[in-house]
Amino acid sequence: MKIYDIAVIGSGIGGSLFAALNRTKHDLILFEKDRNVGGCASTFERYGGYYNSGATTFVGYEEGHLIGQMFKRIGFTPELRRSEVGVRVIQEEKTVDRVKDFDTFLAMVDREYPNPFNRMFWETIREIDRKFWELKHIYYAKHSIGGYIKTLRAMAELLSVYRWDLLMSAERFIRQTLGEIDAAYQNFIDAQLLITLQTTSKELSLLAMALGLSYTFHDTFYAKGGMGRLIEGLLEDVLVKRQEAILSIEPLPNGHYELISTKGTYYAKKVVLNSTVYDSGNLFKNPKIQAYYNRFSFSDQSAFVVYLRLQGEEKFLHHYQLIQQQYLPFSISNAIFVSFSDSEDQRLSEGGYSVTISTHTRATIWQNLSKEAYKAQKKELQEHIIEAFLHYFDTIKAKDISRAFSATSKTFHRYIGRYNCGGEAFKLKNLLSMPSCRTPFEGLYHVGDTVFAGQGWPGVALGVDILDKEING
Ligand SMILES: Cc1cc2nc3c(=O)[nH]c(=O)nc-3n(C[C@H](O)[C@H](O)[C@H](O)COP(=O)(O)OP(=O)(O)OC[C@H]3O[C@@H](n4cnc5c(N)ncnc54)[C@H](O)[C@@H]3O)c2cc1C
Repeated sequence: MKIYDIAVIGSGIGGSLFAALNRTKHDLILFEKDRNVGGCASTFERYGGYYNSGATTFVGYEEGHLIGQMFKRIGFTPELRRSEVGVRVIQEEKTVDRVKDFDTFLAMVDREYPNPFNRMFWETIREIDRKFWELKHIYYAKHSIGGYIKTLRAMAELLSVYRWDLLMSAERFIRQTLGEIDAAYQNFIDAQLLITLQTTSKELSLLAMALGLSYTFHDTFYAKGGMGRLIEGLLEDVLVKRQEAILSIEPLPNGHYELISTKGTYYAKKVVLNSTVYDSGNLFKNPKIQAYYNRFSFSDQSAFVVYLRLQGEEKFLHHYQLIQQQYLPFSISNAIFVSFSDSEDQRLSEGGYSVTISTHTRATIWQNLSKEAYKAQKKELQEHIIEAFLHYFDTIKAKDISRAFSATSKTFHRYIGRYNCGGEAFKLKNLLSMPSCRTPFEGLYHVGDTVFAGQGWPGVALGVDILDKEING
């Protein structure tokens, strides 16, 4: 009977980074239920063309940053192109390019959202972020003495670096620094936070807001061939079982785990789950493990994504965020995030641009509907999004869109087993209740955007780094 050292369940950013970092140290196997690897960061083929399913921006790869260091350790050099403009943020007549160069960015903010304290505000935001990525002891792990000690050391370091700022709310900092700002400026800030942190300044600490708003003070990269190519590269030397879902996992009396998949039975000493904490309880019959997962109340934040194939020769930036006055129907946002494939990307741009447009919605908005009502709702939101897209890109005509289709939280669930999308917001109120990579059960661990440190490449990678240290010392 073969016993693996580690079984990783899921090939999202978390599962794949962890597996790649540990592939030579441990006898490791990874299971992925879908045909494509990458989860929310996958690239899929449909109607003869390729599309990024969710994630399109790659941040944290620059010199000295965690993801760059991890890729180096793994020995994988991805094919990337730096985006000159991280994101172009458009709010009716106002346009601000989120470029890395601070003064260029600030000049645009001053032009569109004049405020005598803009420099002070944005410099502080950037400084808080810079200090965060220089911290030596970022750690957050529960359920072991060593983990608690390292977490306390991390808290002490945070306190010594940020002092009272650590306890300040984002809302208070905005008011204290910028004064009473108008709805447009507030919206400009909040729409960006919704993308990077899944929530607005109302619920965030100053530290979380600074990390969210500083995303584009880092290099933003475009992944050639699609985001899924990064995951495929990471997994090149990993034993991966694609299209093989794990159906159940049971702890055995000898401390190992038995895993039953759609194709067979496997045994492993340790299990690393990349499924969300909301869905993982379903994998276990063991009442204590089920009770652990049932503690986490479901975050029904999710995504609605429209995929387009677009004809034409016009050149575009990689990413735009369009903020409107009105909320979109069946959504919780007034903004859409538009990503174009690079015109020189032979895989994604074959047969026209591949465009991924996303907005925020709630999973519950798509549940308990008749088949007809679900279809009608999906069509209505897709049409609204395409209308907003054509309204801004007024040189593009409806006839240039040769293909359009969309995904709801139900689609994400069908392919990658999650209704919640985009991760758990890291709010003031859940600061200490957020799940950590370690569970109370020996040998059972977690990675991904529903555990510390949250969503996106940087957040998930930080969680993987901590798990890596927990397992390998
Ligand atoms: C629309 C959208 C846009 C986004 N844009 C960006 C962006 O531009 N940049 C960025 O950095 N982040 C972005 N994010 C966030 C980012 O994509 C996610 O936070 C991240 O990809 C989540 O990674 P994860 O490790 O949690 O794994 P997930 O993406 O959740 O993947 C988990 C994997 O596990 C598999 N799995 C689950 N259960 C089982 C099982 N029982 N057996 C086998 N396999 C299983 C799933 O099929 C899936 O492939 C975006 C998210 C969304 C939804």
